[in-house]
Amino acid sequence: RPGLELRAVFLRHGNAAETVQALDDVHLTVAPGELAAIVGPSGAGKSSLLAVAGGLARPDQGTVTVAGQDMTVASRRVRTDLRRRHVGFVFQSGNLLPALTAVDQLRLVQRLGPRAERASRDPFELLADVGMADKVNRRPDQLSGGERQRVGIARALVTEPDVLLVDEPTAALDRARSHDIVQLLAREAARRSVAVVMVTHDHDVLQYCYTVYEMVDGRLTAAK
Ligand code: ADP
Ligand code: ADP
Repeated sequence: RPGLELRAVFLRHGNAAETVQALDDVHLTVAPGELAAIVGPSGAGKSSLLAVAGGLARPDQGTVTVAGQDMTVASRRVRTDLRRRHVGFVFQSGNLLPALTAVDQLRLVQRLGPRAERASRDPFELLADVGMADKVNRRPDQLSGGERQRVGIARALVTEPDVLLVDEPTAALDRARSHDIVQLLAREAARRSVAVVMVTHDHDVLQYCYTVYEMVDGRLTAAK
């Protein structure tokens, strides 16, 4: 069973006067354990794809399933619930709450988590997995960019998602740190059987990705 599957997905933005075909017949299958990269110019539809994959937006046509669950159901409440159970997000620069220590970033997600048994991962263990064992009590302003990104990845894994959606994780990092972060994503994908989709501009890190897709004008094509 694929972790993530998009079939014949179409999404248009805008109104009657001016519309943009953000997703144009998109097909994408990402298996559990696979790290897939999506590259492409600004405005190509990459964010729209992540939004649809995570149930944040409903496509005009097509099917989106995460761990076999239909993410295109009409009810926003049901989509939110599915997202919380099955999807994790990692953002450009970690997107951490400024007042919380690393371990408290994870504890907060645990407390708000959808199901106690799913959110039972030990935050300390997760932080150790991403190489942050000795910095669990630091706030974001006491961490480097690469370290914030590691905490952001650990936080996204607390709920044991089936799919991890990652938006430009290396945008704020230098070359060496970028390699570390994408290698970490590839490793955690395999280790936890998570289907990971990473949007990136960074061609330098594509070597760690199992598959690479290019997006242009809403159309997705395999590039590797
Ligand atoms: P990318 O992430 O590759 O930069 P996006 O998915 O953000 O691309 O955008 C795809 C296209 O849809 C672009 O032309 C963008 O301007 C347009 N678009 C995105 N969101 C909206 C919106 N809420 N309203 C209107 N147009 C939008
Ligand atoms: P990295 O090699 O991950 O990019 P840096 O070279 O930026 O890290 O920082 C080196 C060390 O200094 C890191 O271990 C980090 O935890 C620490 N550090 C960076 N910024 C701060 C800060 N504002 N306050 C406290 N410690 C910091």
